[in-house]
Amino acid sequence: MRYHSLNKSAPESSFRNAVIRGLAPDKGLYFPNEIPKLPDSFFKDIHSLSHSEIAYEVIKSFVLPEIEEDELKRIVEETLSFEFPIVQLNDQISVLELFHGPTMAFKDVGARFMARCLGHFNQDNNEKVTVLVATSGDTGGAVANGFLGVKGVDVVILYPSGKVSEIQEKQLTTLGQNITALEVDGVFDDCQDMVKRAFLDTDLTDSIQLTSANSINVARWLPQMFYFLFAYKALYQKHKELVFSIPSGNFGNICAGMMAQQMGLPVKTFIASNNSNNVVTEYLNTEKFVPKPSVQTISNAMDVGNPSNFIRILNLYKNDFEVLKNNLVSYSFDDEETRQAMSEIFEQFEYIADPHGAVGYLGAKEYLKEHPNAHMVFLETAHPTKFLDVVEDTIEKKLELPEQIKAVIDKPKSSVRIESYNQLKAFLLSNRAN
Ligand SMILES: *Cc1c(COP(=O)(O)O)cnc(C)c1O
Repeated sequence: MRYHSLNKSAPESSFRNAVIRGLAPDKGLYFPNEIPKLPDSFFKDIHSLSHSEIAYEVIKSFVLPEIEEDELKRIVEETLSFEFPIVQLNDQISVLELFHGPTMAFKDVGARFMARCLGHFNQDNNEKVTVLVATSGDTGGAVANGFLGVKGVDVVILYPSGKVSEIQEKQLTTLGQNITALEVDGVFDDCQDMVKRAFLDTDLTDSIQLTSANSINVARWLPQMFYFLFAYKALYQKHKELVFSIPSGNFGNICAGMMAQQMGLPVKTFIASNNSNNVVTEYLNTEKFVPKPSVQTISNAMDVGNPSNFIRILNLYKNDFEVLKNNLVSYSFDDEETRQAMSEIFEQFEYIADPHGAVGYLGAKEYLKEHPNAHMVFLETAHPTKFLDVVEDTIEKKLELPEQIKAVIDKPKSSVRIESYNQLKAFLLSNRAN
């Protein structure tokens, strides 16, 4: 598969180059030149396929032959070495649980897939690749865990001091090996600004191969298509019309679902469920896309004021607003509504949702009001214990910590404190020599 930049002034790219670079040289996002259709027989026989087999069929046309078949099968199998259960709450609503990976957020799948692709491309390369990433919480842990021990790859994570949860901080700062956590005296936007500045700094880019590991990278974005097929496999015999409600921040996950739909997956509509950061909800109401500074909420992984993947969605629908509106509905909910939803889910279904999943649930319920025959699947994108204080406080119940969390909680934290861009630069240059 060849990839092009959505800014349209960079040369076409191989998969390998798109993964190593992250962003195209014209600062555009990479997008595949075509979206192949899967045969009808694939959907008809999907019940007889394992998750790895489904995933391989979906991803292969985006990767072969740059990674050969057997190697890609191995990468897919290793990436998906945990469960993706569907829990049916009632006749109208199911939950797809995406939090059974090592860091208990759905970002594990993309991070693990990308790490293995990069490791593969780097195996005969003496030049180290440095993955530089800013995190407000979940991304850092998933990337750190996914890349741990991958040969030829160093990971440098910037996180805002005191602004991530204790569990999230432990997931970033206790791994060692090729992972370094830089604790920034500032907020998430400061971390993000430093990372952006580093990518534009030729003193660095001339001497270090830097790449990003956010959902801009095609190897993190595309594997998210798998989730929608797993849900289809679990539900298609019972429910004809599936509608997905996706708690959205940067819109990478929902855009991957739309890609799966274009490959032939029968989906009626996608719901972008947002917190108070409602740029896309507003866009669908007004046709005006107006980025805003992000506001802080209890579903903080969705506190995004300018969703970077939305341009990929526009491109999927060829910038046709009417066609897009037929496929995408968006609602936004504030923290008060989110807490109420968490209580309701617990009381009605004895199910514990995290604040992100609760926003997805609210979107599903809203859509059902006018489409009572749809079957809604909302994505539960993080385990509730990752947002322990909010969840325990809201449902008034103590949660039990799962093994993945217990394993990091008592480990000693190790981070390097920085205050300025120059300290980041000095760190990267000295790290290169090691
Ligand atoms: C990252 C994240 C999201 C948002 O996903 P996008 O692909 O950025 O829209 C939602 N929930 C959780 C828990 C996340 O970590």
